[in-house]
Amino acid sequence: MERPCAWKKYTPQQVEELEGLCRGYKQFLSENKTERLCVKTGIKMAEEAGYVDLETVIAEGRTLKAGDKVYAANHGKDLMLVNLGTAPLEQGFNILGAHVDSPRLDLKQNPAFEAGDMAYLDTHYYGGVKSYHWVASPLALVGVICKKDGTTVDINIGDKADDPVFTISDLLIHLSSEQMAKPAKDAVDAEILDVIVGGRPVKFDEDDKDASKEPVKQMFLDILKEQYGVEEEDFLSAEIEVVPAGPARDMGLDRSMILGYGHDDRVCAYPSMLAQINVANVERTSITLIVDKEEIGSVGATGMTSRFFENTVAEIMTLAGEDSPLALRRALAHSRMLSSDVSAGFDPGYAGKFETKNAAFMGRGLCFNKYTGSRGKGGSNDADAEYVALIRDIMDKAGVDFQTCELGRVNAGGGGTIAYIMAKYGMNVIDSGVAVLSMHALWEVANKADIYEAYRGYKAFLERA
Ligand SMILES: [Zn+2]
Repeated sequence: MERPCAWKKYTPQQVEELEGLCRGYKQFLSENKTERLCVKTGIKMAEEAGYVDLETVIAEGRTLKAGDKVYAANHGKDLMLVNLGTAPLEQGFNILGAHVDSPRLDLKQNPAFEAGDMAYLDTHYYGGVKSYHWVASPLALVGVICKKDGTTVDINIGDKADDPVFTISDLLIHLSSEQMAKPAKDAVDAEILDVIVGGRPVKFDEDDKDASKEPVKQMFLDILKEQYGVEEEDFLSAEIEVVPAGPARDMGLDRSMILGYGHDDRVCAYPSMLAQINVANVERTSITLIVDKEEIGSVGATGMTSRFFENTVAEIMTLAGEDSPLALRRALAHSRMLSSDVSAGFDPGYAGKFETKNAAFMGRGLCFNKYTGSRGKGGSNDADAEYVALIRDIMDKAGVDFQTCELGRVNAGGGGTIAYIMAKYGMNVIDSGVAVLSMHALWEVANKADIYEAYRGYKAFLERA
């Protein structure tokens, strides 16, 4: 039952199509390093494909009918794309879902300080990170600063070729005998993940009693004020993410892979959005849902556990003339979903952590996880065998390469996704996605064939499920 490597079957024309898709993906990944930017770009992609803001439809008192395409955004961090089909909405939707928040370091609310004649910004990590990954590497600052006057300042420093970058220092090997003897989880204390942002003081008179006690930090703040019009206190209402600096790049001499920050889970989100906007006339309404906060438990107003999805479906059904509460319940229960998140690609260096009959291999296509979870499937959505049979049939008929997998050996660890949250409505949900190496590291690896098969699989699902 070994699955073949997807590359073997490709015609030159398919390789060209694969490269075109991956060029677009690399640009998406390089330019959208926060959930806010992913949503902003997703809206742009949707509008270019003829999608209209649901708010506009409501404001203008319009109704919705088959063939209409609308989108809804939530706090600028979630996005839902809807393409209305010809079948009654009550019969359910075909839904693609993925998340666009990635592990990172967030600036604290009061981040700036000076030490050792350098200016620093203090951070609090977001999601599952290994602290030692984050030292001695070029970093960028991306996010927003919201001012009391209601304006928002966009910050994006470190990614353009002539931008300065930032870094977190590591202890030199010569003085590391104590550090090197610690367990990896303790080798770098998360509290000292402080980003160096300056090393030059403002000019001041040594005799001036009013001169800044922190002249290097002052220089940093002065530049910030001059270039962005913000004060130190404005950090109180900011969301600035510290992310790896630099673009996603082709990897391998054969250019078969992509090394990039945030494959988890933009490698599923981007092909999902693309499949959604490239599928035109559907019978069952197709929906693509891009969400935030998966990495910290899908909580809050922008996490999958919020009512954004359900509320938006209710709005759409009302505008389409199916406004009974029962119709909404039926639509949700009759829906089918591919809940996409990255899978753990088989890593020969750590072969002992995998069970190879049920592991995801790089380049063998779209992954389906019947269940995830840990310690005896704990916390997992276990997809029905009947639904898995339907998915197999759709993929086989469309000629999509896929593989079935688990996240590592039994009891090696585990993880969760957004699948169980949608399953609460009674709909059929299965975990799917793209295999990556070095999941949650600064630079993750994905195979182009898997990205291409994911796109093809998502499209087939929207058209045929
Ligand atoms: Zn993920």
